[in-house]
Amino acid sequence: MNNRAAKTAIAGLGLLLGTTGLAFAGRGDAAAATGVMCFAGVISLVMLAVSIYIMVWVYKDAKNRGTEPILWLILVFFTGIIGLVIYYFVRPQGILTACHNCGKPKLDTLPQCPHCGAGM
Ligand SMILES: [Zn+2]
Repeated sequence: MNNRAAKTAIAGLGLLLGTTGLAFAGRGDAAAATGVMCFAGVISLVMLAVSIYIMVWVYKDAKNRGTEPILWLILVFFTGIIGLVIYYFVRPQGILTACHNCGKPKLDTLPQCPHCGAGM
């Protein structure tokens, strides 16, 4: 093997190793990126589910207590957990009892059922 062939062989081997290394490094980054994105996706989904659950709960609770459910729903939609805390303290306080007419929960101090309109 002359000097030139040896240099070419070493250069070729170096190039091969370098490319393989880059490929592995690239794959590692892609895997890490995919992992991070999956994690972020799962977190987003959980947060979305929690937000929807909170909004549904606030809507139903506001309706049961004879307040404006749509307004509270909008507030909680835009303010999230802060809106929920505000709602929790501002909402009409009292015990929910079943309506004698439709059986749905209502605030016991309401003169009329917010669901069916039956007088107490
Ligand atoms: Zn009712």
